[in-house]
Amino acid sequence: MARSRAYFDWNATAPLNEAARAAMLVAFDQVGNPSSIHAEGRAARQIVNEAREAVAAALGAQARQVVFTSGGTEANDMALNPHWRHLNGAPLSRLIVSAVEHPSVLAGGSFAADQVEILPVSSDGIADLAALDEMLAAGGPALVALMLANNETGILQPVAEAARLIHRHGGLLHVDAVQGLGKMPFAIGDLMADSLSLSAHKIGGPKGVGALVLGDEAKAPMPLLRGGGQERNHRAGTENVIGIAGFGAAVRLCAGRLEPDIERMADLRARLEAGLMGVPGTHIFGAEVARLPNTTLFSLPGLKAETAIIAFDLEGIAVSSGSACSSGRVQPSHVLAAMGASLDLAQGAIRASLGPESRENEVDMAVKAWKKLSQLLIKN
Ligand code: PLP
Repeated sequence: MARSRAYFDWNATAPLNEAARAAMLVAFDQVGNPSSIHAEGRAARQIVNEAREAVAAALGAQARQVVFTSGGTEANDMALNPHWRHLNGAPLSRLIVSAVEHPSVLAGGSFAADQVEILPVSSDGIADLAALDEMLAAGGPALVALMLANNETGILQPVAEAARLIHRHGGLLHVDAVQGLGKMPFAIGDLMADSLSLSAHKIGGPKGVGALVLGDEAKAPMPLLRGGGQERNHRAGTENVIGIAGFGAAVRLCAGRLEPDIERMADLRARLEAGLMGVPGTHIFGAEVARLPNTTLFSLPGLKAETAIIAFDLEGIAVSSGSACSSGRVQPSHVLAAMGASLDLAQGAIRASLGPESRENEVDMAVKAWKKLSQLLIKN
């Protein structure tokens, strides 16, 4: 990537890392189908198996708990199924999702729209566990989706605490951990998640590959994609061997350097936020609570996110709005709305998400651009 620009949109997607690229180049030359018995097939299977081991090891899981998918969206969609194998044909009748989940969770998977209930969050963006307890007590066993870390704000959720509650009420917990991977340590056992979704492209792997990791292989959602018996009958379709090879290499790399990466990103984020706060009126969402080390969502009253993103872009800095931006138009963020943020602040929310390769001079460029932008805002 040209380093004259500063790329601060790692939560949207991370640059492909060298290890992932190299692993994919090797996989490109494997002709075999991983389901074939001959030598070519076995070679392809080995690539998939090694990646599976790497993903499992990073999460404190066994390889058989890892089901490769086409990404985080498919993993979420797969998990949000009323039918799980161990329920023996007695489907769950309710899905509870936190109000700040990714759209791929808010869509509700295979649940009918009237089976989906929204769990409120506090003004700090944290799921209201007292409300969850009441909701769980008020009906039959539910599947609950609570994300590990929010993609817009970086705010962390009390997942293990929620798991205890959910399991006490006979429910299941799905955790969208797409943004947590590579930015915080966690193990599926500690989170007590029944399933957990990951995406390769958020950690320097390729786009279009991810995984659903099961807390216990005997407890699995029924397959979304049916056909062949791939992925131990959890997900039909010939595996994306090249993408999976890249995912495995990216996971191995980020797991091996997690601590220094976290420290580096946290230092850079602190430098960035100190600089941003130099502009009077700057608001940082979630500054008082535990967040991912790389993410900052900030705003100024009267600012429009679209204008700000273009202004940053012209200064050579790639940031995004915290909110969904489809077809180029910024929509008000459902995350900030759920936190009760004022529209004035929410409509100007800008997300800078850093990566382990971000640099101090890039952070300083962003601070300078923020100061310039605020001056323009005052003049207008
Ligand atoms: N969940 C969260 C929290 C995300 O940030 C994303 C990506 O934007 C996804 C799920 C979807 O992942 P993918 O792009 O691999 O479908």
